[in-house]
Amino acid sequence: MISKLISAARISEVQELLNQYEKIVIVTHVSPDGDAIGSSLALYHYLIDSGNDVTVIVPNSFPDFLSWLNGAKDILIFEKYPDFAQRLIDEAELIFCLDFNIPKRIGAMASFVEASDAKKILIDHHPYPTDFCDVVISHPEISSTSELIFNLICRLGDFELMSKDSAEAIYTGMMTDTGAFTYNSNSAQIYYIIGELLKKGIDKDRIYSNVYHSYSIDRYRMLGYVLSEKMKVYPEFKTALITLTNEEQQRYNAKKGDTEGFANLPLNIKDIIFSVFLREDGNMIKISLRSQGTFPANKFSAECFNGGGHLNAAGGEFYGSLNEAVEIFEKKLPEYKSLLGLNN
Ligand code: 5GP
Ligand code: MN
Repeated sequence: MISKLISAARISEVQELLNQYEKIVIVTHVSPDGDAIGSSLALYHYLIDSGNDVTVIVPNSFPDFLSWLNGAKDILIFEKYPDFAQRLIDEAELIFCLDFNIPKRIGAMASFVEASDAKKILIDHHPYPTDFCDVVISHPEISSTSELIFNLICRLGDFELMSKDSAEAIYTGMMTDTGAFTYNSNSAQIYYIIGELLKKGIDKDRIYSNVYHSYSIDRYRMLGYVLSEKMKVYPEFKTALITLTNEEQQRYNAKKGDTEGFANLPLNIKDIIFSVFLREDGNMIKISLRSQGTFPANKFSAECFNGGGHLNAAGGEFYGSLNEAVEIFEKKLPEYKSLLGLNN
């Protein structure tokens, strides 16, 4: 049985807005990942199939390993077509905000979304959402926004209407936000949902392969380089750090998404519970933090880099040099000794 996770009150608010409006825009966060694109396309297919006029708008481009999803070609990239995207946001009657909790996470689109007269519905699983939507469906205890979309469609009474395209997108988001069901994935409901998605005809092995067996030769060699040359281990803190410069990424012809998953790599090492990945991204440093157990990656990110995220997967942006970012991290690390389960 599908859980009653989303309250009946929220479901009827969404139902009412859907009865009233059909010009819909779906937005999600910068550098969209599998859950951002998966949840957006899942909802997109459902709303299109229900007769609405829908556009998914993302702030910037998404990785190639998501481009096989049906509907991916129709996603509008704000950075490429800002005027057109802005017009759609202005004219929308309803905006769904998926997989982010604060307007800042949609970058330059934020001011337009906030200024739009459209009714706004937030569907998200990041802690501490700010108050920028009319309807808020926020469940930090759920491992992916895509799972929330499955729940929503079912609770609206439309499981029958859910297409295979929508089911594939949901599975992709659930899979990528749990590292292919290796973390944040102990809820029985996840496996109930997977069973239901399989009934829609999805090929979960093919989806895994499309997403994870998709390395270019350059990307795979960069991975080897990073592991052998760029990983610093701090055994006394059960922590590891990977850094990567612009020049190094250019050397391996790195494209958007090519460093996806690198932040998780050090957690494969026995006893490492905190992994920090600092990557030059143009003029800023992209921060990716991963942890195991109760170590709060999001707290660390907020304190050091004004970022945020989940307990075990967090991120941020730092405007300064890579060396400065490393210094900030190394200075802070000892303060976290007790949270790392180490005696002071
Ligand atoms: P990733 O390392 O995959 O980019 O991000 C992991 C998680 O950290 C995301 O799901 C998101 O919750 C959070 N995150 C990433 N970048 C930022 C950021 O710049 N600011 C905030 N507040 N959270 C971020
Ligand atoms: Mn997510």
